[in-house]
Amino acid sequence: MDAFTFYNPTKLIFGEGKTTTLVEEMVVYDRNVLLVYGGGSIKHNGLYDTVLEQLSHAGCHVTELAGVEPNPRLTTVEKGIALCREKNIGFILAVGGGSVIDATKAIAVGARHDGDIWDVITKVETPRDALPFGTILTIAATGSEMNSGSVITDWERNEKIGWGSIFSFPNFSILDPVNTLSVPREQTVYGIVDIMSHVLEAYFHPAENTPLQDRFCESILQTVLETAPALLNDLNDVSLRETMMYCGTMALNGMTQMGAKGDWGTHILEHAVSAVSDIPHAGGLAILFPNWLRESVDVNPTRGAQLATRVFGIDANGKEARDVALEGIDQLASFWRELGAPTRLADYRISEDQLEEITDIACGNGIFGHYYRLDRADVLRILHASL
Ligand code: NAP
Ligand code: FE
Repeated sequence: MDAFTFYNPTKLIFGEGKTTTLVEEMVVYDRNVLLVYGGGSIKHNGLYDTVLEQLSHAGCHVTELAGVEPNPRLTTVEKGIALCREKNIGFILAVGGGSVIDATKAIAVGARHDGDIWDVITKVETPRDALPFGTILTIAATGSEMNSGSVITDWERNEKIGWGSIFSFPNFSILDPVNTLSVPREQTVYGIVDIMSHVLEAYFHPAENTPLQDRFCESILQTVLETAPALLNDLNDVSLRETMMYCGTMALNGMTQMGAKGDWGTHILEHAVSAVSDIPHAGGLAILFPNWLRESVDVNPTRGAQLATRVFGIDANGKEARDVALEGIDQLASFWRELGAPTRLADYRISEDQLEEITDIACGNGIFGHYYRLDRADVLRILHASL
């Protein structure tokens, strides 16, 4: 394995009913709070009222930034930064999914950054500070609740960029599975695909001697495979929601990538697709990932075969590793299809004449992918196969 340093300062507060521990968490933070949330789901399921009550008990003065959009926009981040400065905000609370949390990370860093936040997102400038912030997660998907990653879209430049810093870890995250009971079926499926994709990105790495890392990944995938169909059968089962929430956090909090840096090419490619057409992140992943796996199968067929046998139960007896790996990929693709995930870019009305533009964006920084190095021709092949 590769040498590594692990750092993750986020305090995780997990379990049914834990939402009401917010008041205790707030004791050590500034009481002038910016509450950030999305398009209104927290008002429909009652979480908004619970949070305001908790903040009021903690003696907080609350300013609100509502309406963070899925695939959060730079304009919304800039609005949040302006609010923090104008109202002298000392703490930010994100209540929502990955989009709300990612926007909050950029606002927290931007509020303490002298220049333009886009320069931080594009890594032209390095942040040196951030406002403290906490999260209450409402959907199992991105892992943003316990990592430093954030993905922001600038629609003027058609760019969707992932960034992170040691200052963009949440100070705490409250994970109460009850808050995910209202996630609709379609979003639940997207969450499942995103979680599995994060594990797959980590699993396909160039490092050797990673038996424990491999099994971390395989155990998350096995748990999701077992839980997902049952959850989609009963979206109100809090135990299944709890398991999925735990999987989502563990899939992308750094644990799976200690000593083995994953590929991440499919995420870069998906960000390029969503920079051209505003589609759900995991919808794009469900389409692209099986095609990336087929395209990269010859890099290390043994690794693909290991995934196929250990996770998808493919019988490898008397078969070539490459064929076993391909059977595993087919199994993954049909699992996602049966859950109801999209299978073709055309499902989102993305057409052949947009593929060059997507490729230009994906290859903007040259060849990418840590396990399988993708150049323009590779990207175009994957996109054509995904049409
Ligand atoms: P999301 O975009 O935060 O939310 C998707 C939808 O689900 C929204 O319409 C939201 O509605 C709704 N929703 C959320 N919680 C709900 C609940 N409890 N009940 C009912 N509806 C609910 O979804 P996400 O998948 O978590 O985040 C996707 C974003 O994260 C993308 O921009 C992606 O690129 C990024 N991402 C980040 C990381 C990372 O590590 N930081 C990793 C992967 C992807 P409301 O707006 O009304 O709340
Ligand atoms: Fe993702």
